[in-house]
Amino acid sequence: SGKLAGRRIVVTGGASGIGAAVVRMAAREGAKVACLDLNLKEAEALTASLSGQGFAVASNVADPASIRAAMDTAATGMGGIDGLVNSAGVVAIEPAAGMEIAIWQRLIDVNLTGTFLACQAAIPHLVQVGQGASIVNLSSAQALAPVAGAAAYAASKGGVQSLSKALAVELAPAIRVNAVCPGLIDTPMNKGLAKDGDSGPPVPLDRYALGRWGKPEEVAACILFLLANDASYLTGTSIAVDGGRTFH
Ligand code: NAD
Repeated sequence: SGKLAGRRIVVTGGASGIGAAVVRMAAREGAKVACLDLNLKEAEALTASLSGQGFAVASNVADPASIRAAMDTAATGMGGIDGLVNSAGVVAIEPAAGMEIAIWQRLIDVNLTGTFLACQAAIPHLVQVGQGASIVNLSSAQALAPVAGAAAYAASKGGVQSLSKALAVELAPAIRVNAVCPGLIDTPMNKGLAKDGDSGPPVPLDRYALGRWGKPEEVAACILFLLANDASYLTGTSIAVDGGRTFH
């Protein structure tokens, strides 16, 4: 039973933060879950707690051969794939004028190219479902309203949004493709930030209508909605899960 009963879902970057919340909550809603991550140890520790509904696969989304092999392993392990969540990602905030090309390249490689490669590797499996397959990509509030220093990150996440729309057109009606744009979420990605104040979030908390950090589970809830048939008439869209930062 559950909203995702019988569904088979791949989560990239599933070992930590938002991805890990998706892994836990999707399993609770009855899905089988393949957790793909660079960090196999963390992925295994997480899936070991899912009473047989999940398993871990080591994978680098930025490496075409690695992500393709991992996706095929996931499909074999679950008997197919009907949902994909692309949560693998990296961040860096640096002034554009002095940004080393290696930083730019890494953010584009992992966030944008990695999302593309995971989608590409999943498509042959997703189309076998016939109808009701769903891809959810992690964009960011930074794609909608970037802060200074976000040139590479915002470009990568804006790319993810446009990629999601392009795939929504190309893969309809068999596969729905949507993006979520999280705001400030309390995950290991943001562990270097103080909760508030000068060394805190790049956008002060009072610019968020709700005035607080979000929890990974609050983003995962939206992702689960987009994965499930509840969202059967949503494709090519993006949902800001940002506590009310970007609408005003
Ligand atoms: P996180 O750092 O907690 O987790 C990211 C996971 O991705 C880690 O387990 C990491 O090992 C994995 N990963 C990194 N590079 C990888 C690669 N090349 N191949 C496979 N796995 C890789 O991050 P999070 O906060 O949960 O963020 C998840 C997604 O949401 C990211 O795409 C991020 O950009 C996006 N996002 C996060 C926030 C936020 O405030 N935390 C806001 C907006 C968007």
